Amino acid sequence: MTQRYGIIGWPLGHTLSPTLHNSGFKTLGIDAEYVAWPLEPLGLSDFMARFRDEEIQGLSVTIPHKRSVMKYLDEMTFRAKSVGAVNTVFWKDDLVWGENTDVNGLIDPLAKMRNVPKTALVLGAGGAARAAVVGLQELEVGEIIVCNRTRSKAEILGHDFNVRVVDWEKRHELAPGLILNTTPLGMSGELETLSPWEADFPRGCVVYDIVYNPLRTRLLAEAREKGCEIIEGIEMFLHQGLAQFRLWTGREYDAQAARRVLLEALS
Ligand code: NAP
Repeated sequence: MTQRYGIIGWPLGHTLSPTLHNSGFKTLGIDAEYVAWPLEPLGLSDFMARFRDEEIQGLSVTIPHKRSVMKYLDEMTFRAKSVGAVNTVFWKDDLVWGENTDVNGLIDPLAKMRNVPKTALVLGAGGAARAAVVGLQELEVGEIIVCNRTRSKAEILGHDFNVRVVDWEKRHELAPGLILNTTPLGMSGELETLSPWEADFPRGCVVYDIVYNPLRTRLLAEAREKGCEIIEGIEMFLHQGLAQFRLWTGREYDAQAARRVLLEALS
């Protein structure tokens, strides 16, 4: 029987997840399909009952369900508990588990570098920033600083993860080895011409923007022009998805092949 997977979110605009997973199933000859399930918040309880009854094999979870889905699970991984949010639901030993592969998405591209930066500045303090801090701590980045427009939200991260908080207005006084943007600044639309970093880049600094539409944000274009190593947001999307694929199928979908499929879909 064809196995079923999908993504829940609301509003669920265009998502690249079906493209990624269906191409993986096809490439690896797995009899499965992945669909988009737009799901209003009030429908979550019924949907999770259906997930169990119909033995749906796995779910990607996006806004606004990443926290609310937690109460419908049997178990959560240490990572998901640390972040306090779930983006992946899977079955293990007849139990429904929650995982957070945004952490993989954030750190896998960094872990592959010859020299992982020793200090990091995380711009933003939302859901992606929490996953980033958990991931950077896993990577044993020595100093992590969080900086957010609304300081009180950064302070919650500072308290939860024991990291330093700096005022948004003072971010340019820092000289981190990694600048990681988790705000929507630079995203296509009204924010596209904006950048979260308006000063010179520290020498040897790696610049990572998790915004992937456009692929080359203003932040990344300027960083590249100044000779910084850059990581595009599509890498986060790719690696969070590949980690989901691995959890659900036990199989490895080749990153280069998957990247090609995503880039083609984006163009
Ligand atoms: P979120 O929980 O809503 O957090 C957004 C953060 O950005 C908040 O800290 C917010 O600051 C800050 N922010 C929003 N507008 C700003 C502005 N105009 N100037 C300065 N700061 C601003 O969102 P999230 O889930 O963390 O996602 C953040 C971004 O990451 C989104 O743009 C999303 O597209 C991208 N993302 C990419 C991937 C990927 O796979 N590449 C995955 C997830 C998310 P305040 O606290 O002051 O409001």
